[in-house]
Amino acid sequence: MESTMMRFQLTLPHILERANKYYPQTEIVSRLPDKSLHRTTYRDFYRRARALAEGLTRAGLKRGDRVGTLMWNHYAHLEAYFGIPCAGGVLHTLNLRLHPSDLEYIVNDAEDRFLIVDDVLLPVLERFRDRVNFERIFVFRYSGDKSVNGKGLEDYEDLLASASGNFTYPELDEYEALGMCYTSGTTGRPRGVVYSHRSTVIHSYNCALPIANNLSPHDVVMPVVPMFHANAWGLPFACVMVGAKLVFPGPHVDGQSIVELFEKEQVTFSAGVPTVWLGVLQLLEQDSQRRRFSPNLRLVVGGSAAPEAMIRGFDKFGITVVHAWGMTETSPLATISKLKPPLDSLSEDERYAYRAKQGYPAPFVELRVVDDEGKEVPPDGKTMGEIQVRGPYVTASYYKVPPSPDKFTADGWLRTGDVATVDEHGYIRITDRTKDLIKSGGEWISSVDLENALMGHPAVAEAAVIAVPHPKWAERPLAVVVLKPGAKATPEELNKFLEGKFAKWWLPDEYVFTDSIPRTSTGKFLKSALREQYAKRKAEEMKVA
Ligand code: AMP
Repeated sequence: MESTMMRFQLTLPHILERANKYYPQTEIVSRLPDKSLHRTTYRDFYRRARALAEGLTRAGLKRGDRVGTLMWNHYAHLEAYFGIPCAGGVLHTLNLRLHPSDLEYIVNDAEDRFLIVDDVLLPVLERFRDRVNFERIFVFRYSGDKSVNGKGLEDYEDLLASASGNFTYPELDEYEALGMCYTSGTTGRPRGVVYSHRSTVIHSYNCALPIANNLSPHDVVMPVVPMFHANAWGLPFACVMVGAKLVFPGPHVDGQSIVELFEKEQVTFSAGVPTVWLGVLQLLEQDSQRRRFSPNLRLVVGGSAAPEAMIRGFDKFGITVVHAWGMTETSPLATISKLKPPLDSLSEDERYAYRAKQGYPAPFVELRVVDDEGKEVPPDGKTMGEIQVRGPYVTASYYKVPPSPDKFTADGWLRTGDVATVDEHGYIRITDRTKDLIKSGGEWISSVDLENALMGHPAVAEAAVIAVPHPKWAERPLAVVVLKPGAKATPEELNKFLEGKFAKWWLPDEYVFTDSIPRTSTGKFLKSALREQYAKRKAEEMKVA
């Protein structure tokens, strides 16, 4: 039997129109390169996003054409987030921290036709511009400097000014492409994920839900996670959908700048990777100044595991940390760790242990944890297996790459490459990436568990644990540790600290103390670089021995 419901497409123009109609006065605040603040409203954002859609259409944009953005988090990037898809184009956010050869590969693979670039990022563009084929390049004068000119560069404001204001959206189908992002994988070539209007709309609902980020027009949201990384975790779309005030940090994402904006704009919600928040926490801990944050300030942490010590640390300042897991391929919000009622009665330590897990899946994200034979592992919180997911905002393939068995199962689930346990309440705890697990004497050791425990030691600022080859055990853990300024700790002290938390054979055989741990372009520990440096050296030593 057919339903009586209307056929109504879930597309982005609806969200844009609604924002102007019901939230025209909502503010959008952006940090400029000189650290001053730019202020605008949803009304003006609406006008400019539509002017961009019209300008691009006049410039010859066709349905499905990719438009690259090379931009920080600010109001003009938000205009691109809406203006490009509302014109039928595909928003392709470029990660400005990538190596020029990767950017070249990505732009060519996506066949980006146009580019919108911040003037302050022109030097990044220049490093690969002659090896790609942008038809037109529009420069957003983010620094306010009007003198920046160059061959083939056009002014973004002129493009907007060319619009008459009489723009009609194309008839969009909800399954049409809206945007694309390349995965930042630490090995191999980046792969493109293409989002649809429908997947983005459904993701926005999930993002705003009380069981997820709990967003409303009363919120002041500051996406610290870059808009070039997994759509800033969907926040720009979800915030415009619910009318939340947006605060964009621009390029200033150091602890001091973040804390300043938290206070000044009374931010209630922010999101970013653990390394950003570890920096903020250190600052708060060293600072004697009394901060006046919003009493409702919560931080969503994902991208890599949030150490329990960090969650406890922020609680002392009245800031709630919520742990979430996802990936570019899952739009990204897949699981979130908020406590369900049966867990409220647990002891304080048990509740913290739960909050440090990655949580249970959002609606319509189906998740299973399977062993090597493809069987689901028991929900005992102990047995490890690979996480596999499927759902309306999970990718079914990569751009131009047919689904392969190492990425997708025969029955259509995405193989995430993340290893986790699952417990009786459905909460997952990620223990590793498949390739980061340490296999010692045939038994698995979780590098993530060791790292998180080490980061709970008062002298440790950061810790990354990798496998190094061993003649007898095949692999053993090596810990790379950055100590807090002025702090001291020996390997013996650190292993003493870990004893009791882990079996003896899990404890690192070796510690390396260093000033910093190399990071990926999205702020995660770059373990492949550590492996290259330390595991290779170990292998050489073994050969000599
Ligand atoms: P990306 O596509 O760059 O967002 O990276 C996705 C990957 O980041 C996942 O497959 C995980 O390996 C890792 N990741 C994301 N969130 C978490 C988390 N909360 N805990 C541990 N790893 C995470």
